[in-house]
Amino acid sequence: MKQAVVIGGGVVGCHIALELAERRYEVFLLERHSRLGMDTSTRNSGVLHAGIYYPADSLKARLCVEGNRLSREFFDRTGVQYRPSGKFIIARDRSEISEIEALRDKAIANGAEGISLVPQDTVQKRVPCVRCVGALHSASTCIIDTGDYLTTLKTLLMQRDVHLLYECPALAIDGGVRVETPRGSVDADIVINAAGLYADEVARMTGLDDFTVVPLKGDYYCTTALPLEVPVYPPPNHGHGTLGVHLTPTCGPDVIIGPSETPSRGKDNYDIETPFAVFDDSLRDMIPNYEAIRPSLREGFSGNRPRAFRGGTRCEDFIIMKQPDSVIHLLSIESPGLTSAPAIARFVVKMI
Ligand SMILES: Cc1cc2nc3c(=O)[nH]c(=O)nc-3n(C[C@H](O)[C@H](O)[C@H](O)COP(=O)(O)OP(=O)(O)OC[C@H]3O[C@@H](n4cnc5c(N)ncnc54)[C@H](O)[C@@H]3O)c2cc1C
Repeated sequence: MKQAVVIGGGVVGCHIALELAERRYEVFLLERHSRLGMDTSTRNSGVLHAGIYYPADSLKARLCVEGNRLSREFFDRTGVQYRPSGKFIIARDRSEISEIEALRDKAIANGAEGISLVPQDTVQKRVPCVRCVGALHSASTCIIDTGDYLTTLKTLLMQRDVHLLYECPALAIDGGVRVETPRGSVDADIVINAAGLYADEVARMTGLDDFTVVPLKGDYYCTTALPLEVPVYPPPNHGHGTLGVHLTPTCGPDVIIGPSETPSRGKDNYDIETPFAVFDDSLRDMIPNYEAIRPSLREGFSGNRPRAFRGGTRCEDFIIMKQPDSVIHLLSIESPGLTSAPAIARFVVKMI
């Protein structure tokens, strides 16, 4: 039986481990924390994206559209909690209409399902608490319970006899085939680097040393006072290439508001540091009755985007590459990585 080591127990590493186990590999999944998914995979907006924003022919576009479909099939098959909520990207004034029209064209070119422009009164009926002059509607966007998702992945991994090694960081990769850990070494025919924020450090273990992952933190506030069933996004933030502070219902009672974008003091820094004024400004733009909701806002949580640079240039797309032939590295798995995870796993397994 061939052996595989997957480094990193986030949603991407878990899906890759499952794919490999289904192909009859003996799989060792190494995770530095005491549980799966404690970094970015449970510190995000929990939105299953449709594939709207990404340049045509990019891995992000392709794997997001495929990942949306595969994820919904996976959730239906395994019982992961999710809601087919749809989503609005709103034009807050007339000047933003051309932006949502351009997004519609991009989404359709990418093959995203269920995309249409809708007038103000359609939005108003579904989300009366939000102000806009029109919107792009995405019918295939969903809300996911990420905690439930990771619990289900863990159950499936155990059923497939994957060796789950917690508190077991990869320390070195010798000759591309032996992974050193504090508990000894594991030999492998194939090693997968799915270490998220630390994928640059794991890449360096095989001599791939021109990548740097810089955490870009996103803080969230939350409230139970906003009656919202459908996620509402502004047009994306062009400066940092992020989606902008959005309003997202969850599978529970909270609506989460964020993420902001602020340089992080470290890859494991999850303190909420964004000035509240940033949320104030974004929310006043979208919610006419904002002053009534404002007192209910409380601090939520944070996540760090694994923003990768190669030789100083930002990697805009997912990077999935071999070095040497027995090690596959995944870098820059920013949004829509949660959505794309099952499609990324299939892509990786085809590379072996
Ligand atoms: C604020 C924010 C909002 C987002 N919103 C969305 C969204 O709504 N929809 C969407 O599709 N995507 C979203 N994303 C992106 C998505 O969350 C990520 O792309 C995805 O979770 C990446 O998963 P991963 O498994 O690659 O990384 P991670 O979840 O970070 O997993 C990597 C794992 O590797 C482990 N590890 C690191 N180093 C080692 C080592 N040496 N040895 C062993 N283990 C190690 C870590 O502990 C970690 O558990 C968002 C991201 C952020 C930050």
